Amino acid sequence: METGELPTLAELQVTETAQSAYHAGAAALTRERFGRRVFVRAVVEVSNFCRENCHYCGMRRDNRDLSRYRSRLEELTDLLLHHRPASVTDINFQAGEDPVAAREIVLPLLRRLRQETRLGLSVCLGTLSPALTEELRTAGATIYIIKFELADPELYRRLEAPGTLVERTAHVRWLAEHGWRVSSGFIAGLPGQDLASVRDNFRLAAELPLVGCSVSPFVPGAGTPTDAADPASIDLALNSMAALRRMRPDWVIPAVSALNLAGPGTGYRRGLRTGANLCTINLTPEEVRGDYLLYKRERFIMNEERILEALAAEGLEPSPTSLADHFATA
Ligand code: SF4
Repeated sequence: METGELPTLAELQVTETAQSAYHAGAAALTRERFGRRVFVRAVVEVSNFCRENCHYCGMRRDNRDLSRYRSRLEELTDLLLHHRPASVTDINFQAGEDPVAAREIVLPLLRRLRQETRLGLSVCLGTLSPALTEELRTAGATIYIIKFELADPELYRRLEAPGTLVERTAHVRWLAEHGWRVSSGFIAGLPGQDLASVRDNFRLAAELPLVGCSVSPFVPGAGTPTDAADPASIDLALNSMAALRRMRPDWVIPAVSALNLAGPGTGYRRGLRTGANLCTINLTPEEVRGDYLLYKRERFIMNEERILEALAAEGLEPSPTSLADHFATA
């Protein structure tokens, strides 16, 4: 596969020595472009209320077993201003699709952090109104993370992913046209998704105006209609990450924490070996973390110590430059 090309089905299934070589080729492209530095962003999960109903997510509105929370503004302000880990250069505010949390918690936090710090500011808040989205940008956020989830429109509809695929991708384009740097992503190994359908995700990602893209392995979520489905194989997720890097050496590609669930013990570090160049430290206050239920209650939380250990073990180091500054000068 040449840079810029979509992966073949064989590349998505590569194993053993050929797989190590495929991943190493992807990692070499990252080193060429970004050196050994990896961006470190903190994520704060501000609310688990969601008006959407995705079958693969524990925070879907029909999950009545979940206790819902919105974080306390004062507590988060204090945490982010005075107690954030030293390696963090960027903060991402993430929530279910919850306009109340976006307005009452995220907006004031963005304003305060913009006034008092040089942190890069990202949001991952779903499809909000144009007016509220513009307020978030004016408040200081520059990066919008919005996953297109999957490229197959029929499966998208069956899994009740947010809105329709056409609306979702139109929103990605709208965000890019309105001054945002947009990072997207897809889920690999969803129930009902064959390999050709996984490959279609690359075609769609390549068509969108993105600065980054993630691959999340499907993990069956507690309290969801896909609870009993098989999880994605870690190899499919890692091969997809390597293929994404080979397709777009310039993108920021995260090592997602779900790699720890798909490949216990080694998944995360193997993700770094595919050329991922963004790590996420979870700063959600401990008392509500268990209710931010993308997958299971037993999450493997990536704190600063674990991230720094994983980076050092792979011969990598945290980037002193924020993602926001990187995109501003790229
Ligand atoms: S994936 Fe996002 S939009 Fe869908 S139910 Fe979960 S939090 Fe809501």
